[in-house]
Parts: sequence; structure tokens; C-alpha cells
Amino acid sequence: MTANADRAGSVKLQHATVNKTPVLIEQPEPTLYRVKLDPVAQPGTGATIELKVSAKVPVAPYQSDQLGADPSSMAANKAEYGAFLSADEVMSLNGLVPGVVPQKSDGTYFAGPSGMGDLAAFEPGHYLVSVEVPSTHAVLAAGNALGEVPRPDGRVRFSFGVSGARDFPLFVTRGYQKSSKVLDGVTVESHYLGADAAAGKRVLDYAVSALAEYQKRFGPYPWNTFRVIEARLTGGAGGMEFPGLVSVSTGLYRGAMDPLSALGMGGLGGLTELHEMLKGLDQMMEQTLEFTVAHEVAHQWFAMMIGNDPIGDPVADEPLTQYAALLYLEWKHGKASANSMRDAQLKLAYQFYRMSGGRDGPCERATSEFETTGEYAALIYGKAPLLFEAARKQLGDASFFKGLRAYADENRWRWVAPDTSLKALGKASGGSAKSLEKLRKRWWVDSKGDEDLGKGDLAGLMHGADLGGGGAGLNIDPAQLKALEELMKQLEGN
Ligand SMILES: [Zn+2]
Repeated sequence: MTANADRAGSVKLQHATVNKTPVLIEQPEPTLYRVKLDPVAQPGTGATIELKVSAKVPVAPYQSDQLGADPSSMAANKAEYGAFLSADEVMSLNGLVPGVVPQKSDGTYFAGPSGMGDLAAFEPGHYLVSVEVPSTHAVLAAGNALGEVPRPDGRVRFSFGVSGARDFPLFVTRGYQKSSKVLDGVTVESHYLGADAAAGKRVLDYAVSALAEYQKRFGPYPWNTFRVIEARLTGGAGGMEFPGLVSVSTGLYRGAMDPLSALGMGGLGGLTELHEMLKGLDQMMEQTLEFTVAHEVAHQWFAMMIGNDPIGDPVADEPLTQYAALLYLEWKHGKASANSMRDAQLKLAYQFYRMSGGRDGPCERATSEFETTGEYAALIYGKAPLLFEAARKQLGDASFFKGLRAYADENRWRWVAPDTSLKALGKASGGSAKSLEKLRKRWWVDSKGDEDLGKGDLAGLMHGADLGGGGAGLNIDPAQLKALEELMKQLEGN
């Protein structure tokens, strides 16, 4: 019950029976419940376990429908990303449907969530889930929608079924609208608030484009539905991935419309000077929305199909997913677009972190081994993905993309380790294994970020100074830089 990672005791399981016989429930960790099967179930046989679930869903924090940068959150050593919360328009109930904890090759089990990064990956399972809600509400989950049946008491029962899922997401919404399109037999749906309908429709287009691009390059998407849900996310999260379903932060839907208020700076809107400086920002926000959707769609391959332990080895899926989102921008909008997103989202994230006193360090660590959420974000989403850019440069496009495709094809429905992708790249290129291993060490183990990404110096950037590290200059126009500097001042002031 991963919701208990942030708030122990918010979800309780009671009254367990196995094949109708009452059994004791153990709770060795806040997020882990255990019932003993006696006799042990043999392979090929089954057991029916029934449990009563009761949960208290925390209320969504104030202004969690905005992008509002909370300066203290980057220094926090725990983050709630909003997987489990309740607001008037949406209840996020992720972590409420239990899954089976995977066992590693050495016989130990995947660790539970650490309070930072992803919450869970379970053994791929088949889920058939029914949820009853008042008729004012609707249920959104993964897989095939199997019906909406009115109940005698006035409520409505929604049912969903999905196979091969490493988790089961669940949302209850009120007043949401939907757009959908069919792509290669996959029904893609975007679910959003009426107030955000314009952005919600663009999100649908982004999701369809990203699915199309990734299917072409990484092989077919396995389910016949894909849903994007607008939801309140917190702790700096832009989106959240599940099998067949992703959520994207309400703040991002509103960001392109009104960047200042999305950043929690609505009060500064009167400053025409600032408005002038931020002119380029709404376009940047829109690109960030598209980039975020692409990132979450790429997760359907990396971690949902090609599985890894996201808590023990976040470096095995997040960096490649982030790089795949850059690739999507390159395929769809061209290299310049990808490069400016790389500079604004990846390099600057690392540099801001360094400027605010954070240290560079190894990326190959369990989520629990990062000291702050700022460190986790800067290293896993900022620095680590650019290993793949370096690898691509070294191998050339043909070998690099051949290797990526082989990695996806060979590891569907398996578990991979942090270096599995690089080994696949090495194999495809024939004889580059050693130099790739060197790159991996440089980017994921050593602390060479300042050399490779630049240490960060906005004043220097504005005057065109080179950042060093192989000319890793930022590809952002002067107006955007000025806006960013202004934002930094505001954030520091806060
Ligand atoms: Zn991610």
C-alpha cells in the first residue's frame, strides 16, 4: 500500500481471508502487508485472498493546481507527488490496488518506496477492478472500460480490465471532459477539466504523436487503450506514469495560458517590464507540456514494458525516458527544438541546483540514497539522460538507434539492470562496449557534471560566455535568459 510511504496508516487492510478462512495480516513495513498461505500455493494453482480496505485520502494542498515553485521543496528529503490525494474535481487513488512485490535474482525483494521518486513496480499482473461512485463522479483507470452500470442505490459501477500491468492506477473525477482519437487500433483518450479544454485537446494530439513516434522506433504499444488524465501533482512533479495511463499536472495545462500565475507569481502581472521579458515564456511552457506528455508516453516502454526496479535503480528508466522525450521533439519539431528543451530543462536544472549549493554526485543510486529531492531531480532528470546523447555521438545514429530498438525488443516483459541498455548499444555497434562503459562511469558514477554540463552562471550566460565542457553553451535566446534570471531572483526572494 504505497500511499503509506508518505503517511503511515492512511491505508489499512483488515479482515483477511484465504479461501474463505480468516488469517492474520502482518505489516512488516508501513507499505507492505503480508498474509501467509497455508498450505503454500503451488505453481499452477490459485488462492483467493479477500481483504477489507479502508483509507483516509489527504486533501490536496492549497494551490496544487498551479506550478507554484515551492523553494523549500527542492531541499526536502521527502516529497509527496500527489499520487494519493483528494480535491473537489479529482481524487487520485494510486497505490490503493495492491500488487505482488517482485523478487530479485538473489532472492531478495524490491524495496518499498523511499519517499522520493517512484512508488512501486509490481510483477506484471492481470487486473479486473470495479469501483462504485456517486452519479456525480466518474472513474478513470487503466485498460479496457468494461461498463458503467447504474446501481439501485443511485451510484454507478465502473469496471476496468488490463493485462500485463506492473501497477494499477485509479482516479475519481468530477466534471471532466474527454477527447479521443484512434491510432493503429489504440484508443487514445485525454481527460481534463472543462476550464482546461483547449490544453486538454492539445495534450491528446501530443499523446497521439508521441505514441506514433515511439511505436515506429521502439516497437508496438501493447494495450488497446491509452489515457492521459489531468491531475493535481505536487512536489515538482510534471507527470506520473502507470501502465496504459499517465497523469499530467494541472499546473502545466494552465502554464501556457498564463505563465505568471502558473508559477504562483500572478501578483507580479502588473509589471509590464516583467511581462515583456516573459514573452517567450508561454511558448516555453507549451513545449514543456508537450515534452512532459512525451516523457510519460515513453515510460510505456521504459519501465512499463521493459521493466526495472524504479526505487532501487531509478537510473535504469528515468534518464532514457527523458532522453526519449528529447528524441520525440527532434523527430517531430527538429533538432533546434530538442536542443533548446535540453538546455532549458536538463542543463539548466543541473546548473540551478549547483548554483543553489547542491553537489554533483553519482546517479546510479537507489532513491533512498539521494539526500534531497532537488539532488534527485538535478542528477536523474538533468544530468543522467545526457549520457545517451554522448553515447549517440560516439556510436553514430545508425548503431545508436539500432541498439535502442534491440534493447526494447529483447527486454519486453523482463526486468533490466542499469547497464542493460548500454550493453545493448554496445552489441549493436560491435566493439564499442569498452568506450560505452567509460561513458557510463563518467556520467552515472563520477562527478564530472560541471565539465559536461557547465556549472551554471546566468550572468556569464547572458554575456555569451562559454560554459566550458566541450562548448556546452546554452541554446536559449537572450530574452528567455533574462526572464529566467528574473525568475531566479524571485525564487531566491521567496
Ligand atoms: Zn519519469
